[in-house]
Amino acid sequence: MSIIIDGKKIASNLRNELKKEITELKKKYGSVPGLAVVQVGNVAASSVYVKAKTKNALEVGIEVIDHHLDETITQELLLDLINNLNKQSNVNGILVQLPLPKQIHEQTILDAISPDKDADGFHPVNVGKLSIASNNDNNLLIPCTPYGCLLMLRGLKIDLVGKNAVVIGRSNIVGKPMAQLLLKESCTVTIAHSKTNNLPKICNNADILIAAVGKPEIVRGEWIKEGAIVIDVGINRIEVEINGEKKTVLVGDVKYNEAFKKASAITPVPGGVGPMTIACLLRNTTIAFKNSNLNV
Ligand code: NAD
Repeated sequence: MSIIIDGKKIASNLRNELKKEITELKKKYGSVPGLAVVQVGNVAASSVYVKAKTKNALEVGIEVIDHHLDETITQELLLDLINNLNKQSNVNGILVQLPLPKQIHEQTILDAISPDKDADGFHPVNVGKLSIASNNDNNLLIPCTPYGCLLMLRGLKIDLVGKNAVVIGRSNIVGKPMAQLLLKESCTVTIAHSKTNNLPKICNNADILIAAVGKPEIVRGEWIKEGAIVIDVGINRIEVEINGEKKTVLVGDVKYNEAFKKASAITPVPGGVGPMTIACLLRNTTIAFKNSNLNV
């Protein structure tokens, strides 16, 4: 029997806390955090994410500065916009929705964002700070998805020290920062990836298993240690047949029904990690605002 970790509820609690904090910040500084949201083109999934991020930001009292650009924009013009946003005092966080069109080099754009306004926590300076800092919070701008996973783990109120944590995936936005965060919690961390040998055996040793692969239901029940905590980051769209009709459904990287029988706690997909990512973006924007006021 497994606890289902309710990402929607934990994210909602975090947003409520932020809303209260932003009300206090407004009294103290006479202004609220500002988030510039930059979308290039009209990729359907990006529009869904941007809409959700904007709605959530406005709800907690963050000002949203929207920049929706044509998909033919040049890298030079996009860099000009980022440089301008870096200078604007009402902009505390800059979010560039990925993916960007082919003519634009994504890392060049992400690197151009001021590290102080890096709402996603992807800038090399913030990646470096995360790797060096002695604990996980302070004023760091931390990649949102892995930080959301950490908050869910902390919410279980178990001692993370010395636990064997296995992270499947080594991407810059999820796998690697997740491993850093768990290391700071004094877990013993293994990072598995596409070239890892005998993945089921490695997973079988995990007290905490984080799946960030992007392969539908790759993690099977028999890979999971009895009583493990399973955090499923994956969001995969697959086609299934329901009552003779083909439908697209969202599944994670973990075969949920099988894993549920083995895990002590597990995140569902959807309703697990996803809502936490947006809440942590709002948290980063608020941290950037507080940092900028401290630096005045
Ligand atoms: P990515 O493609 O950048 O990285 C995937 C990682 O999985 C790689 O490091 C690769 O080595 C590893 N991998 C691939 N095949 C493997 C295999 N057979 N065995 C072991 N490892 C393998 O993806 P990403 O950006 O890190 O995202 C991972 C998943 O998380 C995707 O499904 C993505 O949609 C989802 N995601 C969800 C959120 C959220 O808010 N819930 C946020 C970001 C990403």
